[in-house]
Amino acid sequence: MADTPIPLEVRNIHKSFGDNHVLKGLSLQAQKGDVITLIGSSGSGKSTFLRCMNLLEQPDAGEIIVHGEPITFKKTRHGYEPSDWKQVVRMRAKLSMVFQNFNLWSHMTLLENIIEAPIQVLGKPKSVAIQHAMELLDRVGLAERANYYPAQMSGGQQQRGAIARALAMDPEVMLFDEPTSALDPELVGDVLKVMRDLAEEGRTMIVVTHEMAFARDVSTQVIYLHQGEVEEAGPPDQVLGNPSSSRLKQFLAPNR
Ligand code: ADP
Ligand code: MG
Repeated sequence: MADTPIPLEVRNIHKSFGDNHVLKGLSLQAQKGDVITLIGSSGSGKSTFLRCMNLLEQPDAGEIIVHGEPITFKKTRHGYEPSDWKQVVRMRAKLSMVFQNFNLWSHMTLLENIIEAPIQVLGKPKSVAIQHAMELLDRVGLAERANYYPAQMSGGQQQRGAIARALAMDPEVMLFDEPTSALDPELVGDVLKVMRDLAEEGRTMIVVTHEMAFARDVSTQVIYLHQGEVEEAGPPDQVLGNPSSSRLKQFLAPNR
């Protein structure tokens, strides 16, 4: 059998904002079914790293390979940019992102939010998109909320809706940026449950989180970032259970 391409590989990503060198050569490889959690204190570069992976931020250097296809970059006078934006649109469809603040479109119902990209980007017929969306809403426990607007739903419902929207693209990799950080504590559990189910069914996921129990139970790999560099990485038992970096020990202390 032919090797299946690796869902996502990034190599030696660098990113600066002005004089602030935020990412200093970060690499990561997500095999099918991997759940990689990124941890680190505020400002360590977790969001920027995630945003570079799907080119919401332009890296200054590095390689991004999605499902075996390298993104091509060119040097322009504005810096390093993709040479083919059509390729970027194609790769973004394979890397769905879930944001801290849900980012559902407020002028659309939940159902409309979910069918938009499958119709516009994947060219699915509307009836097919609706059927798939309803199945996904059922999975995340929101079938009854299909015709609600985001403002009519709790944060936890909006975030589960945002996960359904990401799933509607049948992505190669799902990227999560602190998906539960903006939620009231009593709403966190439902969202984590949906994410645990996704991990269990073999979804490839990269998750920025402060939920250490989730990271410990679900991850195949934990990466601890400090000031834009990997300070420690490995299986959760090792990185969270028996860290060697003193910075990481300190970072984990309140959770132990
Ligand atoms: P984290 O997600 O780990 O908290 P971020 O990736 O958001 O960290 O930020 C890393 C650093 O990059 C911080 O110093 C932050 O101020 C800076 N930064 C992030 N985004 C921007 C931006 N759009 N413009 C300028 N600086 C930014
Ligand atoms: Mg962040």
